[in-house]
Amino acid sequence: MRTDNAAYIERDLAHVWHPCTQMKDHEQVPLIPIRRGQGVWLEDFDGKRYLDANSSWWVNLFGHANARINAAVSAQLEQLEQVILAGCTHEPVIRLSEALTGVAPAGLTRCFYADNGSSAVEVAVKMSFHYWRNVGRSAKRRFITLSNSYHGETLGALAVGNVALYKSIYQPLLMDVITVPSPDCYEREPGQTWAQHSRAQFEHMQAALDRHSEQTAAVIVEPLVQCAGGMRMYDPVYLQLLRAACDRHQVHLIADEIAVGFGRTGTLFACEQAGIRPDLLCLSKGLTAGYLPLSAVLTTEALYAAFYDEYTKLTAFLHSHSFTGNPLACAAALACLDIFRTDAVLERNRMLSAHLGARARALAAHPHVAEVRQHGMIVAAELVRNKASREPYPWQERRGLAIYRHALSRGVLLRPVGDVVYFMPPYVITPEEIDLMVEVAREGIELATCD
Ligand code: PMP
Repeated sequence: MRTDNAAYIERDLAHVWHPCTQMKDHEQVPLIPIRRGQGVWLEDFDGKRYLDANSSWWVNLFGHANARINAAVSAQLEQLEQVILAGCTHEPVIRLSEALTGVAPAGLTRCFYADNGSSAVEVAVKMSFHYWRNVGRSAKRRFITLSNSYHGETLGALAVGNVALYKSIYQPLLMDVITVPSPDCYEREPGQTWAQHSRAQFEHMQAALDRHSEQTAAVIVEPLVQCAGGMRMYDPVYLQLLRAACDRHQVHLIADEIAVGFGRTGTLFACEQAGIRPDLLCLSKGLTAGYLPLSAVLTTEALYAAFYDEYTKLTAFLHSHSFTGNPLACAAALACLDIFRTDAVLERNRMLSAHLGARARALAAHPHVAEVRQHGMIVAAELVRNKASREPYPWQERRGLAIYRHALSRGVLLRPVGDVVYFMPPYVITPEEIDLMVEVAREGIELATCD
C-alpha cells in the first residue's frame, strides 16, 4: 500500500468531511496529511516539514510529542483511561481541580468539566442562567456579548458570539442576545491610546447594563483578544470597568479564556492583567497543552452554593458529557501545569514575545498592512486594500488564502483569519524559528498584495 501524501489525500477525500472547510477548496488547495510532530514542527508523508505557527488551532503550548506530557499520559494509560465522573472520581481530576483553583484568580474554587471549548461556554451560560433561577430571580435570563466576539460553534456558544461568517446562517436557531460594540482598538481614532479607546467604548456596555441588568444573567467576553474575530485586541482597563459594573448591577461576568488562557497574553490568565476575578472562567485548548480534548469552568463558592440543596428541590446542575474530566486529559493538563511551575515559561515567553513583536512590527511598513498588534505571544498583522482609509480587500479575493499557500510552500503552517495574518506559536519556538515564520509571512504578504 502506498504511504505518500497523495495516497492519504485520496483516501481522506473519499470519506472525511473537514471542519471549517469548503471541501471543494481541496480541488485546488492541497490537504496536508501529517505523519508526525516534534516540537514546533509537523512532518507530512513525503517528509516535508511545517512550522506550526498557529499551535494547531491555538492549542499546543509545549510542542508536539513533548517528552514530559507523553510520559504523563502514558503512565495514566496504565492506570485508568476513562470512568464516569458522576458518582465516581479519580486522582487526576482531583489533583487537577486542586491545581487549577491554586493558579486561577483567587476565589474561583469550584471546577466543572466538559470536553471542548464550546461545551465549556454552554456550561457557563447554563450555570449563570440556572443560578439566577435558583436564587429566585428567574427574570435574569439574557446575555450581553461584544460585537466581533467568538465563543464556539454549538448553538448556545454561537448565540453569544458575533462573527457573522459563522453565525448568521444559523440565526433562526439561536437565542436572542444583547450585543454591544467591542472595545477593539483597531477601531480607535488616530492619536487615541488603547486605554482611552477601550474606556470610551465601555460607555456602550454601561448603557446596556443600566438598561437591561434586571433581565441579564451575565456578560460574556474574551479577555484582551478577540481571536477568531481577527485577533482584535483591547486594553485591560475595559475588564476592570466591566468587573465593577457587573458587581454594581448584579450580573455575572463570564471570562472565556479558552484561547487566551495559559500564558498566551503574557500572564497565565488574561484577567490577571486587569486584576479581576470573573464569576465563571472558561478554559480549554492550552489546558492540556493541546494534547487531548478537555475543558473546565471555574466558579465561586457563592455560585456553587446556590445549586447545593436537597435533591427534591431540583436545583442541581444536571449537565453532563460522557467524557467529562477524562483521566488521560487530566493527566496531560497536570503535566502542562507542572511545566509552567518548573520551567519559568512566562519569563521565557517575555523574551520570545519581545523578539516576535520586534520582528513582526517591521511588517507594519508594508503599504497593505494597516496595523501590527500584539498581546504577549499573540501578534497579528491586518491586511487592507487602502492603508490610509483602512478599506479592506473584498473578502471574495481571499488574500489570506494566498499567504497560507505561499507559507506552506516554504514550510510554515500559517492560517490567516480572513485577511489577518497572525502568529500564535508553541512556546518552545526559538528566536531563529520566529525569524523564519515572520520572513515567510512577509513574503506571503508581498505576493498576496502585489497586484
Ligand atoms: N471560545 C473561544 C474564545 C475560542 O477561541 C474557541 C475556539 N477557537 C472556542 C470558544 C470554542 O472551542 P472549541 O473549538 O474547543 O469548541
